[in-house]
Amino acid sequence: MRVAVPRETAPGERRVALVPETVSRLGAAGFQLRVETGAGAAAGFPDDDYASAGAELVPGSSLLDGAEAVVRVAKPAPEEAAGLASGTVLVGFLQPLTDADGIARLRERGVLAFAMESIPRITRAQAMDALSSQATVAGYKAVLLAADRVPKLFPMLMTAAGTIAPVRALVIGAGVAGLQAIATARRLGAVVSGFDVRPAVQEQVESLGASFLDLGVRAEETAGGYASELTPEQQAQQQRALEERIPDFDVVVTTAAVPGRPAPRLIPRSAVDRMRPGSVIVDLAAETGGNCELTVPGEVVEHAGVTVIGTTNLPSLMAYHASQLYSRNVAALLQHLAPDGELALDWEDEITAGACVTRPEESPG
Ligand code: NAD
Repeated sequence: MRVAVPRETAPGERRVALVPETVSRLGAAGFQLRVETGAGAAAGFPDDDYASAGAELVPGSSLLDGAEAVVRVAKPAPEEAAGLASGTVLVGFLQPLTDADGIARLRERGVLAFAMESIPRITRAQAMDALSSQATVAGYKAVLLAADRVPKLFPMLMTAAGTIAPVRALVIGAGVAGLQAIATARRLGAVVSGFDVRPAVQEQVESLGASFLDLGVRAEETAGGYASELTPEQQAQQQRALEERIPDFDVVVTTAAVPGRPAPRLIPRSAVDRMRPGSVIVDLAAETGGNCELTVPGEVVEHAGVTVIGTTNLPSLMAYHASQLYSRNVAALLQHLAPDGELALDWEDEITAGACVTRPEESPG
């Protein structure tokens, strides 16, 4: 299978879909790799390393000539989608639940599109789970952004000038990103609390040395292990409970999400008003509207001395390792779809059928 790796074009995107390490592994497994010149530069992977790994480096203008598969990080822009030939395999974060127009475009082109978000989160597919690999990076980075902003040291320190108290951090939403945020804040020495509406995660929060903050709100867990959306009454109850507790914390990292839905609004302005000046909120849900009422996606804002960080695409800020992990996820999927380097799709297979979001057989529109 001839696989093309384009340079990402989405604003601010520094990652690359395949890194040299994986290129060489895929080459040995029967794939032919073409990489656009400069594709890995922003993530710290120079062209020479791709060439040494066995890839052919080509300019963007000829990248897609003869390509059977295109692997990318972000979904293609409309003009990029228009350049895909019918029957081409496309792999990437295609936003199937939130970008209906983009998916329709791919369907009209007859593209065989596989969305990384749609890979079922079953044990057999763990090596392909890019939501988890990228959420791990985001959770880590979120705490570093908070540590950089908060005018306090994270650990308790006993010095000749006396003792200083540790930062108190709260992580709301203890999924993959939240658990990594808890672990990172703990490693830096903060006293950490975690909260999630799925009761099952209490044990995981506690096993990381954090305490579980009980806000008295519980949601059903869906078959995929996700939280269901709270009712408006439950949401109001959660906001009230948080408003009571939030002044105790110097750092709040929010990661609450319900797949395909806008982010739940957890922290109203009135709760931010109660926080101490110098406190920091990092809103990992900024891209889907934010968990905090004051979040501005892509921006850092201040409100009465409280910093609200709405920076989006945190994995892109750690592009080297984020790409390395993503690349392994992509390679695992490619090898699943084309076991000996030749496309061999089994539509009875849960991973293949689950990840596929458009197929050429489908009628346009
Ligand atoms: P996510 O990014 O969709 O959501 C983040 C967290 O927000 C979740 O833990 C969710 O419960 C929580 N949340 C939703 N509404 C909330 C609210 N109102 N208040 C507080 N928290 C709220 O989820 P994710 O991190 O991608 O994954 C969640 C779960 O999926 C995992 O913990 C696990 O159970 C499952 N999972 C399974 C596998 C696997 O088996 N291979 C891999 C990854 C994840």
